[in-house]
Amino acid sequence: MPAHKTEAIVIQSMDFGERDKLITFLTKKFGKLKGIAKGAKNSKKRFSGTLEIFSHVSLDFFVKENLGLARIESVSLIEPFSKINESIEKVTYGSYFVELVNEMVGEREENKAIFTLLLYFLRLLNREKICEEYLRIYEVRLLTLLGYQPQLDKCIICQGEIGLKVQNWFSLKRGGVVCPTCHKGIEDLPISLGTSRVMKAARSYPLSKITRIKFSAQALKESRQILSNFVEYQLGKRLKSLQFLEQMKGM
Ligand SMILES: [Zn+2]
Repeated sequence: MPAHKTEAIVIQSMDFGERDKLITFLTKKFGKLKGIAKGAKNSKKRFSGTLEIFSHVSLDFFVKENLGLARIESVSLIEPFSKINESIEKVTYGSYFVELVNEMVGEREENKAIFTLLLYFLRLLNREKICEEYLRIYEVRLLTLLGYQPQLDKCIICQGEIGLKVQNWFSLKRGGVVCPTCHKGIEDLPISLGTSRVMKAARSYPLSKITRIKFSAQALKESRQILSNFVEYQLGKRLKSLQFLEQMKGM
């Protein structure tokens, strides 16, 4: 059995049988990876605190040939992100970040940019106050990295420029903006020029500058509807953590 070493983030942690834990990681070198941590349920020593959700760790594991569960050999903590766990709002945000990755990323498909994105947003959440922009920026960037980049600058049907003084729409089915002339779908959602511009900035700014991006109230409202429904459309289901986020917002 070959041994491997990589940086990883814990994105799910579940009990597995009497003694073990089943952990899902997003790794830097191997994409999403599921593995068994033997004895982790009872022995606090062996993996002491490293298998908590959101932990950024260094991971050693073995795999038998091809797929199947990895055997987790040892894990050491790089960053615990303990401040996230001090606030229910931060935990809800973080849970949404990891659940999106867990649902949308295939197993053992290497994608360093997605690892970097998740790590960046967990650091942000750990360090800064939360703001709703983070959710929208994360969604639009993750969708883009996964190949679902929404078309935002031209009508996805006629390729006409998006006008300022007309009502434009976003088609979930086509994954882009639709002008009033081409708009027919009853499930299309309203999108203003301002919203499409800020969503474009959200996906194209360097990560180090994204905290400068501010959405207007209208852009937040429209992009929340568009992006959460677009994710749901791609996945064919609504994420649990998103339902929590909505409940939290309503409270
Ligand atoms: Zn059109």
